[in-house]
Amino acid sequence: MMKFLTKNILWAVGIFFVIAILFSLAYKETKEPIQLTLDQVAIKINAGEVAKIAVNGDALNLELKNGDIGISKKEAEAGLTETLTNYGVSSEAMQQVSFTITEESGFKFWAAMLLPILLPILIIGAIFFFMFRQAKGGANQAFMFGKAKLKMFTPFKGTVSFDDVAGLKEAKQELMEVVDFLKNPKKYLEMGAKIPRGVLLLGAPGCGKTLLARAVAGQAGVPFFHISASEFVEMFVGVGASRTRDAFETAKRAAPSILFIDEIDAIGRERGAGVGGGHDEREQTLNQILVEMDGFDKDTNVIVLAATNRPDVLDAALLRAGRFDRRVMVDLPNMEDREAILQIHGRGKPLAKDVNLKQIAVRTPGFSGADLENIMNEAAILAARKSEKQIPQVDLYEAIEKVLLGPERKSKVFSQKEREITAYHEAGHALVGSSLKDADPVHKISVIARGHAGGYTLKLPMEETFLKTRKQFLAEMATLFGGYVAERLMFGDSSTGASNDLSRASEMARKLVTKYGMSEKLGPQTFGKAQELVFLGKEIGHEKNYSEKTAADIDAEVKYYIDQSYQTAKKVLSSQKASLEKIAKRLIEKETIEKEEFDAMLKELKIKKA
Ligand code: ADP
Ligand code: MG
Ligand code: ZN
Repeated sequence: MMKFLTKNILWAVGIFFVIAILFSLAYKETKEPIQLTLDQVAIKINAGEVAKIAVNGDALNLELKNGDIGISKKEAEAGLTETLTNYGVSSEAMQQVSFTITEESGFKFWAAMLLPILLPILIIGAIFFFMFRQAKGGANQAFMFGKAKLKMFTPFKGTVSFDDVAGLKEAKQELMEVVDFLKNPKKYLEMGAKIPRGVLLLGAPGCGKTLLARAVAGQAGVPFFHISASEFVEMFVGVGASRTRDAFETAKRAAPSILFIDEIDAIGRERGAGVGGGHDEREQTLNQILVEMDGFDKDTNVIVLAATNRPDVLDAALLRAGRFDRRVMVDLPNMEDREAILQIHGRGKPLAKDVNLKQIAVRTPGFSGADLENIMNEAAILAARKSEKQIPQVDLYEAIEKVLLGPERKSKVFSQKEREITAYHEAGHALVGSSLKDADPVHKISVIARGHAGGYTLKLPMEETFLKTRKQFLAEMATLFGGYVAERLMFGDSSTGASNDLSRASEMARKLVTKYGMSEKLGPQTFGKAQELVFLGKEIGHEKNYSEKTAADIDAEVKYYIDQSYQTAKKVLSSQKASLEKIAKRLIEKETIEKEEFDAMLKELKIKKA
């Protein structure tokens, strides 16, 4: 409401200014009238200078032959001719003037009288008028809230096809099958098969769930309705359920059709898990979805497609048979898929001859489709900034690091001492990582600040892995301690630069013990249950399902693993101090060491994984 009010006041002020300007313009255009006394009027009439006299009550408006305008006033009691005769105007002279007599009670009089009073009233009235009109519009909108804002993609309008989605073979296949259900229901019904009600797309953010759904819309050849679950619950309480009803109603009317609910975890969270207000609303909306899905007749030809990246928080009722009973995994892309995704997003970009997207795919394990799209885009921006005609491979490499770690900050000024510390720190990471069998190989070391990091050591796994072993965890923790240990070893002191490494190592150690059951002492069991406080959507609570004594045991175990990896790092570095120094010196000199050069150095220094 406040917004409407200020808007209207602004309008009123604006109108006022426009009126004021018009008035002043109108005044300027008429000439200033000359104030005349009656005897001056008499003289002018006798001289034959007066063309017209308009009598308006007591006021006289004179129009002179030379175009001037004069005003004067006669005595109230006497007639004009009588007065003028008294002033000595001859009757011949009088006859040359044309007299008009206008009633004083004319329009002009009233206008002049009332305008100053009416104008403010009119303006205030206008303000109220606009305000009411907007308020009424708002009220109408309130009535509209029960309607879902369904976006419909008609098949021919959908510009995305399965060709635009790289990889995800199983997901595509599953969805094609679902589309076939819709198109040829008879085939399946005759076999006594039930048409699936709901298909849930599961997967990490940016892996192409929404993209896949849009591709289905393009491919299906049936009406496709799209709504984001958060649009069900919006602004007003109590509209979620009716919006849901409306969305299903619309989809059923258009059957056979597909209804796509994106980010369904926004409403589909476990019921009763909410904190604070608003979760009731979500529950009602969720209940309504369940009711609607149960209410489909056997031959209702509507399939509900939903997407989420948080299947763990979904209400169990959503997942049971007859609802979202089909689940399609949308995984992070593997190397082959990554190359294909890069190819898709490289379309229409002038790639230089030396570009090798396979190499980029090799260097980007764990990247999602959205990340890869981002890499292509960043590379294009980099090339454009350098006024290159084509995008070279180096820009793609650069883009990977930018997406991974944030932009390079070459301008950040380090003192000589800070540079040295950073160089030894990164050399420490690299050397420990290269000396342990289970650590990922080093791809690049740099002392150029990037994002929050003063320098960085890029380590990437040799090949895609889905599992991580205990030994790998320990090697990674030791590598993380490499920076800290190198600082202590060379300078007898440690810096704040290691803080991120330490917190990551500590977290890893705790997970090792409490989540993965990798502790020898405490054995294969997990401790604590992560609690979701739904309104934050983050793991902020931790339900303690163990005794105080176990808590102390856990702490001791965590400390044991931290100590152990610290010792490993220390052993590696103190036995190879000369190599550490060589790597650090090279870093100070060159700022960045790439994989090839680093591998050559390792050979030269006879450093082997053991
Ligand atoms: P989400 O799974 O979070 O819904 P999106 O579908 O919105 O992710 O994907 C974000 C973007 O990433 C897409 O617009 C697309 O450009 C890109 N992308 C993700 N996966 C793929 C893929 N398999 N093939 C091509 N592009 C992809
Ligand atoms: Mg999405
Ligand atoms: Zn570090």
